[in-house]
Amino acid sequence: MSDTTEKIKELLPIEEVIGGYIKLQKAGGNFKGLCPFHNEKTPSLHISPDRGSYYCFGCGENGDIFSFVEQFEGVDFVGALKILADKAHVPIEWQEQGSGNKNDRLRKVMHDATRFYEKVLVKVPKALEYIEKRGIANDTVTSFRIGYAPNSWRMLFDWLTKNGYTKEEVEQAGLIKAGPSGFYDRLRGRVIFPIFDVSGRPIAFSGRILPEHEQVEKAPAKYINSPETDLYNKSEVLYGFDRAKQEMREKDQCIVVEGQMDLVMSHQAGFKNTVALSGTALTLGQLTRIQRLTNTIVLAFDADGAGLRAASRSAEIALGLDMEVKVVALPDGSDPADVIIESESKWKDMIESAENIVLFYLHKTYDVTGVREKLRYAQSNVLPFIARIGNKVEQEHFVQVTSDTLGSTPDAVREEVQKIQFKLASGNNSEQTPVKESTVTPVRSRITTLEEQIAGIILSRKDDVELRQKCESIVDKERLKNLLESPKTEKYVYEVEQLYSPEVIADEAKNLLHNLEQEYLRKELEHITRSLREAEGRGEQARVDQLLAEHKTISQKIQH
Ligand code: ZN
Repeated sequence: MSDTTEKIKELLPIEEVIGGYIKLQKAGGNFKGLCPFHNEKTPSLHISPDRGSYYCFGCGENGDIFSFVEQFEGVDFVGALKILADKAHVPIEWQEQGSGNKNDRLRKVMHDATRFYEKVLVKVPKALEYIEKRGIANDTVTSFRIGYAPNSWRMLFDWLTKNGYTKEEVEQAGLIKAGPSGFYDRLRGRVIFPIFDVSGRPIAFSGRILPEHEQVEKAPAKYINSPETDLYNKSEVLYGFDRAKQEMREKDQCIVVEGQMDLVMSHQAGFKNTVALSGTALTLGQLTRIQRLTNTIVLAFDADGAGLRAASRSAEIALGLDMEVKVVALPDGSDPADVIIESESKWKDMIESAENIVLFYLHKTYDVTGVREKLRYAQSNVLPFIARIGNKVEQEHFVQVTSDTLGSTPDAVREEVQKIQFKLASGNNSEQTPVKESTVTPVRSRITTLEEQIAGIILSRKDDVELRQKCESIVDKERLKNLLESPKTEKYVYEVEQLYSPEVIADEAKNLLHNLEQEYLRKELEHITRSLREAEGRGEQARVDQLLAEHKTISQKIQH
């Protein structure tokens, strides 16, 4: 595999790959552009063709072409490899991968099963009728590879084993289940929605039962999904994500719906920035993946109890990640698919008028009668969201709005919000809510800055042995070693390049080393002064004399 990645790196200059996504301008031997990973107006993403790497001074993102594509496209390494291998016209030899063989077989089974379901669909009029009745167009059926699982016990199983797959492989792909009289197909009599990974490969299925079978079998589930397999991790995958990536970034917004039908219809209506859940609520992993592309989610969940709970849970995690959360007001008892089949423009209006989640629930208090009831409602439906907002200014804004709406005071609302925060902080909280990093930036000492710059110079002039020896004679050995092996080395090199042109770098190194030496001396002097005071306090005259002599020697070395 490493041969393949090296070959791709040789064939694809980094400025071309990144330049294909964002506009770049030349900056000396490097390039720079507006960073796509954080919001900014002046370019702080720097790209070095020599090193084949990039670094952002604004948000610290850094890496090579593979990590850039992973981040930008929201795909994993294999996905990025696939994209870049295509671009470079390099065939990927999957066999090189360690566990590649087994997962490759699973992917093949899923690929063939998808084709099987697709082929069956065109032969089953009642399934086609149902799909048409739900408003799904032919193009959409083809593009989403919608299929049909025949209402028989072993048709898929037999077909796959006839085509060379073992029972174990079919079972590991989650397609069959063990019963009293042998294995049988897990999905039967259902319209099949393949679930794709980030690179668009089928890894699981979701089956919607046909209405006529709904009555026949005893209380069958409307939807049945594949179990988790080596390919399918429910808490990571989002249905539709593979085709929503681009538009999520462009529209700077991600619409989240609950079901496959909702998703397919939303895409068909032109909202390709829609993804659907596979479980109950959005997980931290899914939200982090979305956040690489946009910071705004629009929740369009059913207005029933389960839908609301899923929305609340998702919103809480998202707010903890500093994302903006909006809510679509769906009419009671209808889901997005119902709305869209009635009128696509109505769906458009609803998305456009989606409200911030705090305001959405706050406005619902208008429908609650009775002052106490209103307050109770706000307490359990509005304040928990405010409590989770990471940005203080934003939080304060909602405290004000809430107190105005409820006819209370900001102080009172703030106090209630703080109570909730206290509860959350004291561990009465699910492990899923991310712990926000402290926003307090530690004050960097001048010594650290100088040491990092010197490390950057050493790293950018790897062949300069003399320079390295000179640095090693001055910089604290342990710290220099740590810096040169730190994961931030890329940052140091880019910083040095920013500050000093290649012609002056050797002279600059001398200056920096001199300054650092001076800083070390000042620090030592501080230390001696402190010890001196202590020794004086204890009346240790001999020690005082010794320290005074040291103080004098060092003071003379310091240039004032
Ligand atoms: Zn950035």
